[in-house]
Amino acid sequence: MILVTGGAGFIGSNFVLDWLAQNDEPVINLDKLTYAGNLANLASLEGDERHIFVHGDMGDFALVSDLLSRYQPRAVVNFAAESHVDRSIHGPGDFIQTNVVGTFQLLEAVRGYWGGLDAAAKQAFRFLHVSTDEVYGSLDADAPAFTETHRYEPNSPYSASKAASDHLVRAYHHTYGLPVLTTNCSNNYGPYHFPEKLIPLMIVNAQAGKPLPVYGDGMQIRDWLFVKDHCSAIRRVLEAGQVGEVYNVGGWNEMPNIEIVKIVCGLLDELRPRADGKPYAGQIAYVTDRPGHDRRYAIDATKIERELGWRPAETFQTGIRKTVEWYLEHGDWVEGVQSGAYRNWLETNYAER
Ligand code: NAD
Repeated sequence: MILVTGGAGFIGSNFVLDWLAQNDEPVINLDKLTYAGNLANLASLEGDERHIFVHGDMGDFALVSDLLSRYQPRAVVNFAAESHVDRSIHGPGDFIQTNVVGTFQLLEAVRGYWGGLDAAAKQAFRFLHVSTDEVYGSLDADAPAFTETHRYEPNSPYSASKAASDHLVRAYHHTYGLPVLTTNCSNNYGPYHFPEKLIPLMIVNAQAGKPLPVYGDGMQIRDWLFVKDHCSAIRRVLEAGQVGEVYNVGGWNEMPNIEIVKIVCGLLDELRPRADGKPYAGQIAYVTDRPGHDRRYAIDATKIERELGWRPAETFQTGIRKTVEWYLEHGDWVEGVQSGAYRNWLETNYAER
Protein backbone atom coordinates (compact mmCIF):
# COMPACT_ATOMS: atom_id res chain seq x y z
CA MET A 1 0.00 0.00 0.00
CA ILE A 2 1.23 3.49 -0.85
CA LEU A 3 -0.27 6.87 -0.05
CA VAL A 4 -0.34 9.46 -2.80
CA THR A 5 -1.26 13.11 -2.23
CA GLY A 6 -2.70 15.17 -5.10
CA GLY A 7 -3.57 12.04 -7.09
CA ALA A 8 -6.54 13.71 -8.80
CA GLY A 9 -4.35 16.34 -10.45
CA PHE A 10 -2.56 16.15 -13.77
CA ILE A 11 0.59 14.20 -12.88
CA GLY A 12 -0.86 12.48 -9.81
CA SER A 13 -3.78 10.96 -11.71
CA ASN A 14 -1.48 9.75 -14.49
CA PHE A 15 0.72 8.22 -11.78
CA VAL A 16 -2.18 6.44 -10.04
CA LEU A 17 -3.50 5.08 -13.36
CA ASP A 18 -0.04 3.84 -14.39
CA TRP A 19 0.71 2.40 -10.97
CA LEU A 20 -2.46 0.32 -10.91
CA ALA A 21 -2.01 -0.71 -14.54
CA GLN A 22 1.36 -2.19 -13.64
CA ASN A 23 0.80 -3.86 -10.27
CA ASP A 24 -1.86 -4.64 -7.71
CA GLU A 25 -0.44 -2.70 -4.78
CA PRO A 26 -3.29 -0.47 -3.57
CA VAL A 27 -3.13 3.32 -3.50
CA ILE A 28 -4.71 5.66 -0.98
CA ASN A 29 -5.26 8.86 -2.90
CA LEU A 30 -5.59 11.94 -0.67
CA ASP A 31 -6.68 14.98 -2.65
CA LYS A 32 -8.31 18.24 -1.61
CA LEU A 33 -9.94 18.58 -5.03
CA THR A 34 -9.06 22.18 -5.68
CA TYR A 35 -9.94 23.57 -9.13
CA ALA A 36 -7.01 21.45 -10.44
CA GLY A 37 -8.20 18.16 -8.97
CA ASN A 38 -10.55 16.20 -11.16
CA LEU A 39 -12.01 12.82 -10.32
CA ALA A 40 -13.02 12.43 -13.96
CA ASN A 41 -9.34 11.64 -14.58
CA LEU A 42 -9.81 8.51 -12.46
CA ALA A 43 -13.20 7.45 -13.81
CA SER A 44 -11.72 4.22 -15.19
CA LEU A 45 -10.93 3.16 -11.59
CA GLU A 46 -14.53 3.36 -10.42
CA GLY A 47 -15.32 0.23 -8.40
CA ASP A 48 -11.63 -0.76 -8.30
CA GLU A 49 -10.89 -1.66 -4.68
CA ARG A 50 -7.18 -1.03 -5.16
CA HIS A 51 -7.91 2.70 -5.34
CA ILE A 52 -9.03 4.32 -2.08
CA PHE A 53 -9.92 7.94 -2.68
CA VAL A 54 -10.00 10.29 0.31
CA HIS A 55 -11.21 13.85 -0.12
CA GLY A 56 -9.06 15.92 2.22
CA ASP A 57 -6.13 18.23 2.84
CA MET A 58 -2.54 17.01 3.19
CA GLY A 59 -2.16 19.85 5.68
CA ASP A 60 -4.77 18.23 7.96
CA PHE A 61 -2.44 16.62 10.47
CA ALA A 62 -5.14 14.60 12.23
CA LEU A 63 -6.59 13.24 8.99
CA VAL A 64 -3.20 12.26 7.56
CA SER A 65 -2.10 10.68 10.86
CA ASP A 66 -5.31 8.68 10.94
CA LEU A 67 -4.88 7.48 7.33
CA LEU A 68 -1.27 6.47 7.98
CA SER A 69 -2.04 4.48 11.11
CA ARG A 70 -5.12 2.88 9.52
CA TYR A 71 -3.56 1.81 6.21
CA GLN A 72 0.13 1.50 7.17
CA PRO A 73 1.54 2.48 3.76
CA ARG A 74 5.14 1.61 2.92
CA ALA A 75 5.60 4.89 1.07
CA VAL A 76 4.15 8.37 0.60
CA VAL A 77 4.42 10.12 -2.77
CA ASN A 78 3.72 13.84 -2.47
CA PHE A 79 2.26 15.42 -5.61
CA ALA A 80 -0.18 17.78 -3.89
CA ALA A 81 0.55 21.42 -4.59
CA GLU A 82 -0.69 24.66 -6.02
CA SER A 83 1.13 24.42 -9.34
CA HIS A 84 0.29 27.27 -11.69
CA VAL A 85 2.88 30.08 -11.88
CA ASP A 86 0.41 32.71 -13.14
CA ARG A 87 -1.95 32.01 -10.24
CA SER A 88 0.97 32.35 -7.83
CA ILE A 89 1.65 35.84 -9.17
CA HIS A 90 -1.95 36.94 -8.64
CA GLY A 91 -2.46 35.19 -5.30
CA PRO A 92 0.67 33.83 -3.61
CA GLY A 93 -1.06 33.11 -0.29
CA ASP A 94 -2.54 29.77 -1.35
CA PHE A 95 0.90 28.67 -2.56
CA ILE A 96 2.51 29.35 0.79
CA GLN A 97 -0.36 27.66 2.61
CA THR A 98 -0.42 24.52 0.47
CA ASN A 99 3.15 24.08 -0.70
CA VAL A 100 4.95 25.21 2.44
CA VAL A 101 2.60 24.80 5.40
CA GLY A 102 0.79 21.82 3.85
CA THR A 103 4.03 19.97 3.14
CA PHE A 104 5.23 20.76 6.66
CA GLN A 105 2.06 19.31 8.22
CA LEU A 106 2.31 16.26 5.98
CA LEU A 107 5.93 15.74 7.01
CA GLU A 108 4.97 16.06 10.66
CA ALA A 109 2.28 13.41 10.33
CA VAL A 110 4.64 11.13 8.40
CA ARG A 111 7.41 11.64 10.95
CA GLY A 112 5.08 10.56 13.77
CA TYR A 113 3.92 7.49 11.88
CA TRP A 114 7.41 6.52 10.72
CA GLY A 115 8.80 6.90 14.25
CA GLY A 116 6.34 4.28 15.48
CA LEU A 117 7.16 1.62 12.86
CA ASP A 118 9.26 -1.44 13.71
CA ALA A 119 12.91 -1.37 12.61
CA ALA A 120 12.41 -3.24 9.32
CA ALA A 121 9.37 -1.19 8.25
CA LYS A 122 11.16 1.98 9.28
CA GLN A 123 14.11 1.16 7.06
CA ALA A 124 11.95 0.19 4.10
CA PHE A 125 9.72 3.29 4.30
CA ARG A 126 10.10 6.09 1.72
CA PHE A 127 8.77 9.65 1.47
CA LEU A 128 9.08 10.79 -2.15
CA HIS A 129 8.63 14.50 -2.76
CA VAL A 130 7.76 15.53 -6.32
CA SER A 131 9.23 18.91 -7.21
CA THR A 132 10.15 21.10 -10.12
CA ASP A 133 13.18 22.42 -12.01
CA GLU A 134 11.83 25.94 -11.45
CA VAL A 135 13.48 26.00 -8.00
CA TYR A 136 16.85 26.47 -9.73
CA GLY A 137 15.85 29.79 -11.34
CA SER A 138 16.64 31.01 -14.84
CA LEU A 139 19.62 29.94 -16.99
CA ASP A 140 21.61 32.06 -19.44
CA ALA A 141 21.37 30.87 -23.04
CA ASP A 142 24.80 29.24 -23.05
CA ALA A 143 24.90 28.00 -19.43
CA PRO A 144 25.04 24.25 -18.76
CA ALA A 145 21.75 22.56 -17.77
CA PHE A 146 20.70 22.25 -14.11
CA THR A 147 22.32 19.43 -12.20
CA GLU A 148 21.22 18.37 -8.72
CA THR A 149 23.90 20.57 -7.13
CA HIS A 150 22.81 23.76 -8.90
CA ARG A 151 22.01 26.40 -6.31
CA TYR A 152 18.40 27.29 -5.60
CA GLU A 153 17.33 30.65 -7.07
CA PRO A 154 13.51 30.56 -7.30
CA ASN A 155 11.99 33.60 -9.01
CA SER A 156 8.20 33.20 -8.72
CA PRO A 157 6.04 32.71 -5.64
CA TYR A 158 5.30 29.20 -7.02
CA SER A 159 8.95 28.20 -7.35
CA ALA A 160 9.83 29.84 -4.02
CA SER A 161 7.11 27.85 -2.28
CA LYS A 162 8.29 24.62 -3.93
CA ALA A 163 11.89 25.45 -2.98
CA ALA A 164 10.78 25.90 0.63
CA SER A 165 9.04 22.52 0.56
CA ASP A 166 12.17 20.87 -0.91
CA HIS A 167 14.23 22.34 1.93
CA LEU A 168 11.77 21.08 4.54
CA VAL A 169 11.95 17.58 3.06
CA ARG A 170 15.73 17.74 3.10
CA ALA A 171 15.72 18.96 6.70
CA TYR A 172 13.45 16.11 7.83
CA HIS A 173 16.04 13.69 6.50
CA HIS A 174 19.05 15.39 8.03
CA THR A 175 17.38 16.24 11.34
CA TYR A 176 15.09 13.27 11.97
CA GLY A 177 16.45 10.61 9.63
CA LEU A 178 13.20 10.38 7.64
CA PRO A 179 13.99 8.32 4.49
CA VAL A 180 13.19 10.91 1.84
CA LEU A 181 13.75 11.15 -1.90
CA THR A 182 13.21 14.28 -4.01
CA THR A 183 12.68 14.56 -7.75
CA ASN A 184 12.99 17.87 -9.63
CA CYS A 185 11.35 17.56 -12.99
CA SER A 186 10.96 19.78 -16.04
CA ASN A 187 7.65 20.77 -17.71
CA ASN A 188 5.28 17.87 -18.18
CA TYR A 189 2.71 17.49 -20.93
CA GLY A 190 0.20 14.79 -21.79
CA PRO A 191 -3.35 13.58 -21.05
CA TYR A 192 -5.45 15.18 -18.26
CA HIS A 193 -3.45 18.42 -18.29
CA PHE A 194 -5.63 21.28 -17.08
CA PRO A 195 -6.25 23.64 -20.02
CA GLU A 196 -4.74 26.67 -18.29
CA LYS A 197 -1.24 25.34 -19.12
CA LEU A 198 0.51 26.08 -22.42
CA ILE A 199 0.03 22.92 -24.51
CA PRO A 200 -3.59 22.03 -23.64
CA LEU A 201 -4.54 25.73 -23.80
CA MET A 202 -3.23 25.90 -27.36
CA ILE A 203 -5.06 22.74 -28.42
CA VAL A 204 -8.33 23.83 -26.84
CA ASN A 205 -8.20 27.47 -28.02
CA ALA A 206 -7.20 26.44 -31.54
CA GLN A 207 -10.24 24.19 -31.75
CA ALA A 208 -12.51 26.93 -30.43
CA GLY A 209 -11.22 29.45 -33.01
CA LYS A 210 -9.79 31.60 -30.20
CA PRO A 211 -6.39 33.39 -30.16
CA LEU A 212 -3.37 31.34 -29.10
CA PRO A 213 -1.74 33.61 -26.47
CA VAL A 214 2.07 33.49 -26.39
CA TYR A 215 3.92 35.47 -23.70
CA GLY A 216 6.42 38.17 -24.82
CA ASP A 217 8.56 37.04 -27.75
CA GLY A 218 7.79 33.35 -27.16
CA MET A 219 11.51 32.63 -26.81
CA GLN A 220 11.33 31.33 -23.23
CA ILE A 221 13.02 27.96 -23.28
CA ARG A 222 11.77 24.96 -21.29
CA ASP A 223 12.59 21.28 -21.20
CA TRP A 224 9.54 19.10 -21.86
CA LEU A 225 8.78 15.56 -20.65
CA PHE A 226 5.81 13.33 -21.49
CA VAL A 227 3.91 12.81 -18.24
CA LYS A 228 4.07 9.01 -18.38
CA ASP A 229 7.85 9.24 -18.50
CA HIS A 230 7.75 11.36 -15.35
CA CYS A 231 5.60 8.67 -13.72
CA SER A 232 8.08 5.93 -14.67
CA ALA A 233 10.93 8.04 -13.25
CA ILE A 234 9.09 8.42 -9.95
CA ARG A 235 8.45 4.66 -9.79
CA ARG A 236 12.11 4.02 -10.49
CA VAL A 237 13.31 6.47 -7.82
CA LEU A 238 10.86 4.97 -5.34
CA GLU A 239 12.17 1.46 -5.94
CA ALA A 240 15.90 2.12 -6.29
CA GLY A 241 16.74 5.72 -5.30
CA GLN A 242 19.29 6.32 -2.55
CA VAL A 243 17.68 7.74 0.58
CA GLY A 244 18.35 11.46 1.01
CA GLU A 245 19.22 11.94 -2.66
CA VAL A 246 17.78 14.32 -5.23
CA TYR A 247 17.17 13.24 -8.84
CA ASN A 248 16.63 15.64 -11.71
CA VAL A 249 14.15 14.32 -14.26
CA GLY A 250 13.91 15.69 -17.79
CA GLY A 251 13.25 14.88 -21.41
CA TRP A 252 16.50 16.12 -23.00
CA ASN A 253 14.25 18.33 -25.00
CA GLU A 254 14.80 22.06 -24.69
CA MET A 255 12.52 24.16 -26.84
CA PRO A 256 11.27 27.76 -27.03
CA ASN A 257 7.56 28.15 -26.26
CA ILE A 258 6.81 29.52 -29.72
CA GLU A 259 8.25 26.41 -31.33
CA ILE A 260 6.03 24.21 -29.12
CA VAL A 261 3.00 26.23 -30.20
CA LYS A 262 3.92 25.88 -33.89
CA ILE A 263 4.39 22.11 -33.54
CA VAL A 264 0.96 21.82 -31.89
CA CYS A 265 -0.56 23.92 -34.68
CA GLY A 266 1.11 21.72 -37.31
CA LEU A 267 -0.30 18.56 -35.74
CA LEU A 268 -3.77 20.08 -35.57
CA ASP A 269 -3.50 21.13 -39.23
CA GLU A 270 -2.80 17.49 -40.04
CA LEU A 271 -5.23 15.76 -37.66
CA ARG A 272 -8.17 18.20 -37.50
CA PRO A 273 -7.79 20.87 -40.25
CA ARG A 274 -9.70 24.11 -39.89
CA ALA A 275 -12.92 24.27 -41.88
CA ASP A 276 -11.53 27.17 -43.95
CA GLY A 277 -8.29 25.27 -44.63
CA LYS A 278 -6.13 28.03 -43.10
CA PRO A 279 -3.27 27.07 -40.73
CA TYR A 280 -3.92 27.23 -36.98
CA ALA A 281 -0.66 29.19 -36.58
CA GLY A 282 -2.61 32.19 -37.91
CA GLN A 283 -4.37 32.28 -34.51
CA ILE A 284 -1.10 32.94 -32.61
CA ALA A 285 -1.30 36.21 -30.63
CA TYR A 286 1.68 37.61 -28.72
CA VAL A 287 0.63 39.00 -25.31
CA THR A 288 2.39 41.01 -22.58
CA ASP A 289 5.02 38.90 -20.89
CA ARG A 290 4.51 37.45 -17.41
CA PRO A 291 6.35 39.50 -14.72
CA GLY A 292 9.66 37.89 -13.72
CA HIS A 293 9.32 35.33 -16.51
CA ASP A 294 12.37 33.02 -16.43
CA ARG A 295 14.09 32.82 -19.82
CA ARG A 296 15.43 29.31 -19.76
CA TYR A 297 15.23 26.08 -17.78
CA ALA A 298 17.19 23.01 -18.80
CA ILE A 299 17.55 19.73 -16.94
CA ASP A 300 20.63 17.55 -16.89
CA ALA A 301 19.13 14.11 -16.21
CA THR A 302 22.46 12.28 -16.27
CA LYS A 303 22.35 11.18 -12.63
CA ILE A 304 19.04 9.31 -12.80
CA GLU A 305 20.18 7.60 -16.00
CA ARG A 306 23.63 6.67 -14.69
CA GLU A 307 22.55 5.54 -11.21
CA LEU A 308 19.05 4.19 -11.81
CA GLY A 309 19.04 3.38 -15.53
CA TRP A 310 16.05 5.64 -16.29
CA ARG A 311 15.55 7.38 -19.61
CA PRO A 312 12.37 8.76 -21.15
CA ALA A 313 10.59 6.36 -23.50
CA GLU A 314 9.03 9.10 -25.63
CA THR A 315 10.72 11.69 -27.81
CA PHE A 316 8.99 15.05 -27.98
CA GLN A 317 7.71 14.18 -31.45
CA THR A 318 6.02 10.95 -30.30
CA GLY A 319 4.77 12.36 -27.01
CA ILE A 320 3.25 15.53 -28.44
CA ARG A 321 1.45 13.57 -31.15
CA LYS A 322 -0.07 11.27 -28.50
CA THR A 323 -1.07 14.33 -26.49
CA VAL A 324 -2.79 16.16 -29.35
CA GLU A 325 -4.57 12.94 -30.35
CA TRP A 326 -5.72 12.41 -26.75
CA TYR A 327 -7.23 15.91 -26.54
CA LEU A 328 -8.98 15.48 -29.89
CA GLU A 329 -10.44 12.17 -28.72
CA HIS A 330 -11.47 13.45 -25.27
CA GLY A 331 -13.56 16.51 -26.05
CA ASP A 332 -15.97 15.39 -23.31
CA TRP A 333 -13.21 15.62 -20.67
CA VAL A 334 -12.23 19.10 -21.88
CA GLU A 335 -15.84 20.20 -21.91
CA GLY A 336 -16.33 18.84 -18.38
CA VAL A 337 -13.36 20.83 -17.10
CA GLN A 338 -14.43 23.99 -18.88
CA SER A 339 -18.10 23.85 -18.06
CA GLY A 340 -17.50 23.14 -14.40
CA ALA A 341 -19.60 19.98 -14.75
CA TYR A 342 -17.16 17.99 -12.68
CA ARG A 343 -17.30 20.57 -9.94
CA ASN A 344 -21.09 20.25 -9.82
CA TRP A 345 -20.66 16.49 -9.73
CA LEU A 346 -18.25 16.92 -6.88
CA GLU A 347 -20.57 19.13 -4.88
CA THR A 348 -23.38 16.63 -5.32
CA ASN A 349 -21.25 13.62 -4.48
CA TYR A 350 -19.23 15.06 -1.64
CA ALA A 351 -21.79 17.41 -0.14
CA GLU A 352 -22.11 15.32 3.03
CA ARG A 353 -18.38 14.98 3.77
P1 NAD B 1 -2.02 19.96 -10.48
O1 NAD B 1 -2.24 21.38 -10.09
O2 NAD B 1 -2.58 19.45 -11.76
O3 NAD B 1 -2.54 18.99 -9.33
C1 NAD B 1 -2.36 19.25 -7.97
C2 NAD B 1 -3.30 18.35 -7.20
O4 NAD B 1 -3.07 18.56 -5.79
C3 NAD B 1 -4.78 18.64 -7.46
O5 NAD B 1 -5.47 17.42 -7.63
C4 NAD B 1 -5.23 19.34 -6.18
O6 NAD B 1 -6.60 19.13 -5.88
C5 NAD B 1 -4.33 18.69 -5.17
N1 NAD B 1 -4.14 19.51 -3.95
C6 NAD B 1 -3.85 20.84 -3.88
N2 NAD B 1 -3.73 21.20 -2.59
C7 NAD B 1 -3.90 20.08 -1.85
C8 NAD B 1 -3.86 19.80 -0.46
N3 NAD B 1 -3.61 20.76 0.43
N4 NAD B 1 -4.08 18.54 -0.02
C9 NAD B 1 -4.34 17.55 -0.92
N5 NAD B 1 -4.40 17.75 -2.24
C10 NAD B 1 -4.18 19.00 -2.70
O7 NAD B 1 -0.43 19.76 -10.43
P2 NAD B 1 0.50 18.82 -11.33
O8 NAD B 1 0.87 19.54 -12.55
O9 NAD B 1 -0.11 17.48 -11.40
O10 NAD B 1 1.79 18.77 -10.41
C11 NAD B 1 1.94 17.77 -9.39
C12 NAD B 1 3.24 18.01 -8.65
O11 NAD B 1 4.33 17.94 -9.58
C13 NAD B 1 3.34 19.39 -8.00
O12 NAD B 1 3.97 19.24 -6.76
C14 NAD B 1 4.19 20.20 -8.94
O13 NAD B 1 4.92 21.19 -8.26
C15 NAD B 1 5.10 19.12 -9.50
N6 NAD B 1 5.62 19.35 -10.86
C16 NAD B 1 4.78 19.66 -11.88
C17 NAD B 1 5.28 19.84 -13.16
C18 NAD B 1 4.38 20.13 -14.34
O14 NAD B 1 4.88 20.37 -15.44
N7 NAD B 1 3.06 20.08 -14.19
C19 NAD B 1 6.64 19.69 -13.40
C20 NAD B 1 7.48 19.38 -12.32
C21 NAD B 1 6.95 19.20 -11.05
